[in-house]
Amino acid sequence: MKLTWKYFGLELIHTFTIARGSEVIDPCIIVELEHDGVIGYGEAAPTGRYGETKDTVIDFLKSVNLAPFKDPFLSEDILACVDALAPGNTSAKTAVDLALHDWIGKKLGVPLWKLWGLDKEKTPFTSFTIGIDKLEVIEQKVREAEIYPILKVKVGVPNDEEIIKTIRKITDKVIRVDANEGWTWKEMARDKILWLEEQGVEFIEQPLPASDLDGTAWLREQVHMPVLADENAIRLHDLPRLHGVFDGINIKLMKCTGLREALRMIHTAKAMDMKIMLGCMIESSVAISAAAQLSPLVDYADLDGNILIRNDPFVGVKVAGGKLMLNDEPGLGVKRMSEISNR
Ligand code: MG
Repeated sequence: MKLTWKYFGLELIHTFTIARGSEVIDPCIIVELEHDGVIGYGEAAPTGRYGETKDTVIDFLKSVNLAPFKDPFLSEDILACVDALAPGNTSAKTAVDLALHDWIGKKLGVPLWKLWGLDKEKTPFTSFTIGIDKLEVIEQKVREAEIYPILKVKVGVPNDEEIIKTIRKITDKVIRVDANEGWTWKEMARDKILWLEEQGVEFIEQPLPASDLDGTAWLREQVHMPVLADENAIRLHDLPRLHGVFDGINIKLMKCTGLREALRMIHTAKAMDMKIMLGCMIESSVAISAAAQLSPLVDYADLDGNILIRNDPFVGVKVAGGKLMLNDEPGLGVKRMSEISNR
């Protein structure tokens, strides 16, 4: 098995701001795993919140030696070995996981959703994310997002109420809210959430810092809308301590090391009667299409990372009227733009 990689800068249509900071170009590393004449694609989209950069991804990929593995179908052994190379590095590990899953699907000639026994008609609608911005830009973004029936709105700044009021002036569509750990006191978070409930918001994601589980457990008792974990729900081993603290979790491939672990997190969360959202970073269609393969299993999807960029190097899962549309192509169901335009 041969692993190669290339850096690619994803250009954002709008500067993307959340409670932690802003971005114009987001790094991604596209990985190819070649064996037996078949190429599997993977992607790493590193974020500083989880201690990764373009350089840490490339350093990690250099340390991966797949030569001892003669059979890519032994994915349990291969991915456990990759995971054990170093702690963290979750998006770099995801790149290998996706490439291996894509390879397996292509070798067998089946899409992953089919391999897992899922109904491709049961995909959820994805929300469209509105980042923090000047009110007039937020207004423009909401108008541009007209075809998406669900908005995920980033808050966690002093003028949260103004942001929501601006959006509610234009539309009464479903709004989900993500504070990205931006509210630092539990009483302040409670007051904000009780106000958001009056605005018809469906749920709140990560209201308090990940370090404040006690505060979040208190907060959940004070409000009515579901409270979902994102920064608190990184990998499978995080889930037991979230039971009774959050109503649900946001699973992202880049946090959890890929499809192998995401599938385990989905089933563990179901066993704990927690809601499940599939989320993303700013990513190309490689990683978004990978996450979409799992989407018939989840309650909510926020898989819009590829819609927020203007130079996606791949095509894969599409969105129609907000609904994720899986295709019948094998593996992750993605093709390089260059392969398509060269035909
Ligand atoms: Mg989030």
